[in-house]
Amino acid sequence: MTIEVSSLRKEFSSPSGTITAVDGIDFSIDEGDFFTFVGPSGCGKTTTLRCIAGLETPTSGSIRFDGEDMTGKPAHKRNLAMMFQNIALYPHMKVKENISYPLKVRNVPKQERYENAEEAADIMQIRELLEKYPGELSGGQQQRAALARTIVHEPEAFLMDEPLSDLDAKLKVEIRKEIQRVHDRVEKPTIYVTHDQEEAMTMSDRIAVFNDGGIEQIGTPDELYQRPTNRFVANFIGNPSMNFFDGTVDRASGETVVVSVDGRDVELRVVDSTAVGVGDEVTVGVRPEDVRLDRNDGDLEGEITLIERIGKQMLATIEGPQGEVRVTLPADNAYEKGEVIRLSIETRATHLFDSGSNDVVTRGPDV
Ligand code: ADP
Ligand code: MG
Repeated sequence: MTIEVSSLRKEFSSPSGTITAVDGIDFSIDEGDFFTFVGPSGCGKTTTLRCIAGLETPTSGSIRFDGEDMTGKPAHKRNLAMMFQNIALYPHMKVKENISYPLKVRNVPKQERYENAEEAADIMQIRELLEKYPGELSGGQQQRAALARTIVHEPEAFLMDEPLSDLDAKLKVEIRKEIQRVHDRVEKPTIYVTHDQEEAMTMSDRIAVFNDGGIEQIGTPDELYQRPTNRFVANFIGNPSMNFFDGTVDRASGETVVVSVDGRDVELRVVDSTAVGVGDEVTVGVRPEDVRLDRNDGDLEGEITLIERIGKQMLATIEGPQGEVRVTLPADNAYEKGEVIRLSIETRATHLFDSGSNDVVTRGPDV
């Protein structure tokens, strides 16, 4: 199945006036796509998903499944599987009854229901739990049962709204893999909602970055990381975040742009210097892995105020006149907190944003 969303808008009325939760968005999802909505809390992800599910009525715009307009089609006729943050297995039902519940709603005879539940349980490797009650299961087993329930009725698409946010870090990784395994196996579109960019980046074929009821950019994880179209996406995608320096264009010609940052000239290589003019207010964006530290050489200066480990990476925070800069360090570095140090940026790997619109104007050839 394909899902096409066009000019979707959803307003809610509240005592304090109208809230525009979704402000005219467009996207389409192909058969077999793992498509993620990512963005901060309150930006309209859940409302969009609920419109697709048929749990909310759009104010305007259209939703099509395989070209067919879903307007007026109730949720239970859309043949979707849904999984939300709270697992909500029915506590008084055995696991096999829980898993087969979507079939019961569709009046499938008991024998057939239980056979399908066994198959789904086999896929999730929880067959031995079928006769137990949810209260007898661990958190991870409950999540597996909930996943088994989503696949039991062979849905046309999967809608998942922050299904992992209540789990501890280890279990998150385990269930993430299970969700991907199910997705690869059934080859149906999955829409996955999360506020966690890292989760989005590791799981998705394509990602829509939501902000304030709109979509800032849609792309593959690589496209969003390497070619963010505006500062919001540049800042939101990637951990640690991109560094930003505000400055003014001093010179732009050929493939060179010189930006004055805090009174110092920073010379950048860009693919299109005609995109900026002398005097333009711009923001230079550079990822922490594209900044170098050195005790002697570098355009900018600052003091190391923090050295920390994030996953496999060592990260230094440098404070200086240009603001706070985060820099990825080699694992065997000998820097220490409190050192005054020089910084140089990889001038071929920068992004240049218009300071007014925050849209990207040009970027270096190596990003
Ligand atoms: P997200 O899932 O990205 O956190 P939501 O879609 O839940 O965001 O919410 C988007 C906006 O719509 C928020 O401002 C939220 O308060 C508002 N909203 C969501 N549901 C309702 C509702 N039923 N009534 C009024 N406002 C709502
Ligand atoms: Mg939400």
